[in-house]
Amino acid sequence: MLASTARKTLRVTRGFVSRTKATEASLPSEADVVIVGGGSIGTSTLYHLQKQGVNAVLLEANELTSGTTWHSAGLLWQLAGMAGQMDTDVEFVQYTKQLVSETLPEETGGDWAGWQNTGAIFACSSRERQISHNRVRLLAQSMYPHIEAHDLSPDEAKEVHPLMRTDDIYGAVYIPGDGSIDPSALVRAYAKSAKKNGGRIFEKVRFFLNFFFDFECV
Ligand SMILES: Cc1cc2nc3c(=O)[nH]c(=O)nc-3n(C[C@H](O)[C@H](O)[C@H](O)COP(=O)(O)OP(=O)(O)OC[C@H]3O[C@@H](n4cnc5c(N)ncnc54)[C@H](O)[C@@H]3O)c2cc1C
Repeated sequence: MLASTARKTLRVTRGFVSRTKATEASLPSEADVVIVGGGSIGTSTLYHLQKQGVNAVLLEANELTSGTTWHSAGLLWQLAGMAGQMDTDVEFVQYTKQLVSETLPEETGGDWAGWQNTGAIFACSSRERQISHNRVRLLAQSMYPHIEAHDLSPDEAKEVHPLMRTDDIYGAVYIPGDGSIDPSALVRAYAKSAKKNGGRIFEKVRFFLNFFFDFECV
């Protein structure tokens, strides 16, 4: 949610903290970085900072993944960025796929980090739509030949996904390496790996930025 980078004092407001899981003793008095919120962004930030050797602390008001991360469908489309010709987006998605399918399971001793390689079919209801999708596919393949992508007829699409209705489509584009990520599993994997590298996570701790820019946690 928010990563704050100054070295500030984490002041625990006595009297309130006993309602939380964290004890006053366990909350550190200082940290280089305080990350507020244990969703996909917060835990990813903690994970990547710990890898850089930065002393970071994550505070979560409720429990990890209790925010919007929990609702996320987590779709991973490798060529999504190509439609807007954003090759950095394609690189980010490649990095995420590698992270979730290989790196995190390795780092967590074999835990599933949420990757489901379902493949993706982009159905095209008109010739223009097919041309548009194919343009993206061809452009992507010229830059990223390792990303497999196919131009399918309606019958070929039915072979890939027999439950699909194909009598009203012009064609489809199929990306076998696409998939989805279970957001809760990903957050658990980020948290586990970050903790192994010394990252600290405190649940049931709400963060406040008071008027004088001191931090408070209750
Ligand atoms: C129905 C739905 C479907 C979605 N599908 C997709 C998708 O397919 N692909 C995709 O990329 N994105 C999708 N999203 C968007 C995605 O879920 C969010 O962009 C992402 O989860 C945001 O992560 P976050 O870590 O920033 O926030 P959150 O997951 O909301 O985490 C914020 C955390 O901060 C905590 N918090 C708040 N205030 C404080 C405080 N003062 N002190 C301590 N902790 C605090 C909250 O308790 C919460 O746990 C979807 C979202 C929804 C709702």
